Amino acid sequence: MVALSPAEHWTPVCTLGILGGGQLGRMLAQAALPLGIRCIFLEDDPHCPAAALGPVYGSNQLADFAAACDVLTTEFENTPLSQVDQLAALGRTLQPPRQALATAQNRIQEKTLFNQLDIPTPPWQAVSSADELGQAARDMGLPLVLKTATGGYDGKGQFVLRDLSQLDDAWAMLGEFAGAGGQLIAEGFINFEREVSLIAARNQAGQVRFYPLVENHHHQGILSHTLAPAPEAECLQDAACDYLNRLLQHLDYVGVLTLELFVTAQGLIANEMAPRVHNSGHWTIEGAACSQFENQVRAVCGLPLGDPALQQPSVMVNVIGQHPDRQRLLSLPGIHWHDYGKTARAARKLGHITLLESDVSARQQRLRELLDCLPEPMALPDWLDQTASDC
Ligand code: AMP
Repeated sequence: MVALSPAEHWTPVCTLGILGGGQLGRMLAQAALPLGIRCIFLEDDPHCPAAALGPVYGSNQLADFAAACDVLTTEFENTPLSQVDQLAALGRTLQPPRQALATAQNRIQEKTLFNQLDIPTPPWQAVSSADELGQAARDMGLPLVLKTATGGYDGKGQFVLRDLSQLDDAWAMLGEFAGAGGQLIAEGFINFEREVSLIAARNQAGQVRFYPLVENHHHQGILSHTLAPAPEAECLQDAACDYLNRLLQHLDYVGVLTLELFVTAQGLIANEMAPRVHNSGHWTIEGAACSQFENQVRAVCGLPLGDPALQQPSVMVNVIGQHPDRQRLLSLPGIHWHDYGKTARAARKLGHITLLESDVSARQQRLRELLDCLPEPMALPDWLDQTASDC
């Protein structure tokens, strides 16, 4: 008997090639399957989370991978542009567009684009020497957030400069990036009230759909909880949609694009964009009529977009570092557990839980029970008590 891989048992309407094979790729493939779309992955780890859903090609098999798919997208923000260029040389176009990937991979280019499109950002300066950092501190005042222009994520590669006496420490920690030909950006420190994000999808026909604005909470630089919708989202949704729409139109974007923003007394300030499905949109799998994953697949495969409307208020909790008690977790009503199939490791995102509950006090109680099933119980977030108030 010839052993067939799972993907060879059926005839897909199209094959979607995804650069990257992490949990985002896995959830994209899960969303693609009901549409009759098969996914394959370009990823050097054959045991990646997406491997359960389709064949994985190593980066040395790029040409075979390209030949095996009809449409190409990415799940990985830091998709090597060299791979995008290699695909282009093979006559293949990746969606979202290269410019969106390149811009999002460099904080200086990203902030330059935001400002060009009149999207508010923290004040910022590119710095390439300790002297320039000192000058930035004098020009913009303290505190400053010093970040590597490329390669940083989840708060890594950052230093908050609160006092001029820390200049040498900041430079000792991050200056090597400037010295090694990398760049640094110094941003004014924003005393934000909270952090929110907006996710939109745009398809090849130019159709655009926005999800409700959500509120994000971080623990040690990693997203821990998302509340959908964000409290008082109605006051901020239009401005956030306007900013994100400027980016979508300017980039002639196809796919899902996420904009992370700070809420301040003066309004929204953009922090960064992610040219991909986003952790703050995982709640959409059960909480929205059509998930961010399905809309990414629809957008890049030339299909009409699905309805992003919220079905029920949702809380998404990331499971980080250690697996939860599955028996107890799955005995709770109204929760959805997504296991990414990863080995436990400190600070690693192993899965997420989405809780759907409209009633605020019931939601609080359920969340308490849910957090209790996690190995490192997290403090009950105070925003659960918040109710919508006037704008
Ligand atoms: P980032 O890698 O740019 O998303 O930054 C990680 C986290 O650092 C953000 O989620 C914020 O909590 C914080 N942060 C980043 N930039 C600033 C800023 N300019 N002012 C205040 N906090 C910031």
